[in-house]
Amino acid sequence: MCRYSRKHLEHVEGYTPGEQPKEAGFIKLNTNENPYPPSPRVLEALKALDTADLRKYPDPLSTELRRACANRYELPGEEWVVVGNGMDEILAMALRAFVDPGDKVVTVYPTYSLYEVLCQLHDCVLQYVPLEADFQFPQAMYTEQGRFCFLTRPNAPTGVAYPRETVRRFCETFEGIVLIDEAYVDFADDTCMDFPRQFENVIVTRTFSKSYGLAGLRIGIAAARPELINEFIKIKDSYNLNTFSQAAGLAAIEDEYYMRSRVGQVRTTRKRVRESLITMGFDVPESSSNFLLAQWNGSPDAAHIFETLKEHRILVRFFKLPGLENALRITIGTDEECDALMKALVSIVSHSV
Ligand code: PMP
Repeated sequence: MCRYSRKHLEHVEGYTPGEQPKEAGFIKLNTNENPYPPSPRVLEALKALDTADLRKYPDPLSTELRRACANRYELPGEEWVVVGNGMDEILAMALRAFVDPGDKVVTVYPTYSLYEVLCQLHDCVLQYVPLEADFQFPQAMYTEQGRFCFLTRPNAPTGVAYPRETVRRFCETFEGIVLIDEAYVDFADDTCMDFPRQFENVIVTRTFSKSYGLAGLRIGIAAARPELINEFIKIKDSYNLNTFSQAAGLAAIEDEYYMRSRVGQVRTTRKRVRESLITMGFDVPESSSNFLLAQWNGSPDAAHIFETLKEHRILVRFFKLPGLENALRITIGTDEECDALMKALVSIVSHSV
């Protein structure tokens, strides 16, 4: 603790992102990136930029990209959309815009662990409500109230998408803002993107980091009624999305066909990998995301499997969090990457028995 620090930061550790190895040669199945490249149109759009585009500030309101998102998501216009430097920025902005320090924020457990860090940073109170035993939406959520709720659908790290109707019913009962984090929704069967038109308290957020394969460019969006979007715009950094990201995001969202075909490949591999994991003895909930939560109650334990995979230069995610001690979160990679993972897993698991 440094003597110049703000008092409430004393116990804040900050978020620990998944490992990004410096050396080449790792199979990276730990941060839910897309194993496939983005649409070729993205590179074309970036190449088409010239030095004048870089010399000048970007459009502060990312108007073209917001308009394209509104179009894609069947929203009335760009005043229903705000963009951010990755969805993570959007999540932080949402707290700054709608939650006062000391207010109560609600979410389920387990879920995206950044929410807890953001609440600590913002000095508000996070109330976790444990998921049902099958990772489904907790009944207890219907009796919770608060200023704000983070709801990831499909959830991470479980991969489970609660039924849309369940989420709708919750949005009807919750008095504060409900932010539905749809980071992984392109890998699912349905979305709640139509909710902002129906509910004045709903924000739906998306990222270009997963289905569009653009994690390196940091593009996220929020969709909500213009009254809410105006609050985001009030508090956002003036030029929060750089020129490259605006151009790339626009090219990506206009090539829906490409995104859909890559997502299709991931979904096919996901099915195969899940079946193999189950055959090996893992317990794996049905996933609507680009990752699987593989639970393991045998020996060696999940922490050991994680370390041994790393020795094989395969990275998956292991969370040192209550309830997740026996689980590995595995991103769906290419078929070759997943085959290598399966081969390594079979040898680790079968050597131990
Ligand atoms: N929400 C969830 C549930 C996520 O898993 C992630 C990625 N870690 C994000 C949001 C953030 O995405 P972005 O890369 O756009 O910041």
